[in-house]
Amino acid sequence: MSDKLNPFEMAQQQIDNAASILGLEQGIHEILRWPKRVLYVNIPVKMDDGSIKVFKGYRAQHVDVLGPYKGGLRYHPEVCMDETIALSLWMTFKCGVVGLPYGGGKGGITCNPKELSLGELERLSRGYVQAIFPIIGPEKDIPAPDVYTTPQIMAWMMDEFSMLKGYYSPGVITGKPVAVGGSLGRNTATATGTVITIREALKSMGKSFREVTVAIQGYGNAGFFAAKFVHEKGAKLVAVSDSRGGILNKEGFDPYKVFEHKEKTGSVVDYPGATTITNEQLLELPVDVLIPAALEGVITKANAHNVKAKIIGEAANGPTTPEADEILYKNGVFMLPDILASAGGVIVSYFEWVQNLTNYYWTQEEVDIRLDEKMTAAFKAVLEVSKQYKVDMRTAAYLHSIKRLAEAMKLRGWAG
Ligand code: NAD
Repeated sequence: MSDKLNPFEMAQQQIDNAASILGLEQGIHEILRWPKRVLYVNIPVKMDDGSIKVFKGYRAQHVDVLGPYKGGLRYHPEVCMDETIALSLWMTFKCGVVGLPYGGGKGGITCNPKELSLGELERLSRGYVQAIFPIIGPEKDIPAPDVYTTPQIMAWMMDEFSMLKGYYSPGVITGKPVAVGGSLGRNTATATGTVITIREALKSMGKSFREVTVAIQGYGNAGFFAAKFVHEKGAKLVAVSDSRGGILNKEGFDPYKVFEHKEKTGSVVDYPGATTITNEQLLELPVDVLIPAALEGVITKANAHNVKAKIIGEAANGPTTPEADEILYKNGVFMLPDILASAGGVIVSYFEWVQNLTNYYWTQEEVDIRLDEKMTAAFKAVLEVSKQYKVDMRTAAYLHSIKRLAEAMKLRGWAG
């Protein structure tokens, strides 16, 4: 991709843009541009063949002015320090947008989990917890799932942390299975949140799901559940994709059947009756709603002009570069930025943590109602800021979030 920015530089540009509009105090701006701590670890793992392989891992902690660090863990061959730092910055602003008492954190291991056995995956996950043990904990930093990490991995990590502590400590990590302190609704939360913001955007345009077509990039946790929910609400799901490519059917897909096909074959590609498309083509389809739900940096200045969707709901973190943002805004695309649209996951992670700390567990209905309240309130607040400052929704989300962070920094005497 020609203008694919280093994601850390991309996150800093987004902060700089919001800071200049707000006239942010120099000290606060400077603190927000950098992570407070980044831990780089090498994790030796005994492989099934008896050899030892060393994996690189990271945990980045950005700004903890509002509370302990919080953010996911990614297992992917392209995980690197700068990507992890960028993701930790975005987590701070995401928590600020929806009003959670957290700072931004993110972690990852450079690996291809598809090539690891279950035993190797467990030993790697436990080794990572041993390596980052000094800087995590329910009051310090609370990891969660991200790309290619699962509730089972969270369960192993919670167990390892509890063993090292000497007592059961479920509040160290969220996204756990319900049987070991997970919250009802966590698995579907990111997609639920994205779909709530799309619902509100449609409402503001006088439309409903029944009138729209949808394309989704990525068919994992965020992508599949987003597909399920828009389909249930009456939208026509015309295209989906995963790392191996995409499929298109103008008549619409049943998301469950596509899921079963992916379970059976390993990919959505070659789904019966569908036309095969590339991930790049998916982004340019003439649909009403586009949901990027895979990786960052996919909508760039090279393809933004060709995006035809009227609404983009970013379930993924960082799918759009700043240059692409400008083009989309000029073209009148209603952008639901990642730090707002993908906040459902961290909101229910927060609910899970609260349940762990109080040892009192909520019903699915309680989770659903509170998630909807938080997402809808955040959407309305960001829309209001975008009208007030006459800026796009991403900038508005940053402004809304940075105001909260700046107030706390001033009150704590950090800067300003
Ligand atoms: P996942 O591992 O469940 O799914 C990832 C999906 O992306 C898979 O379908 C995979 O095939 C696809 N993919 C990988 N590489 C791709 C490529 N190059 N092109 C197209 N598709 C590709 O991960 P997830 O949890 O659904 O995360 C997806 C995005 O959502 C990430 O950006 C993540 O940071 C973001 N997100 C996740 C959560 C969460 O709670 N899981 C919360 C907020 C944001």
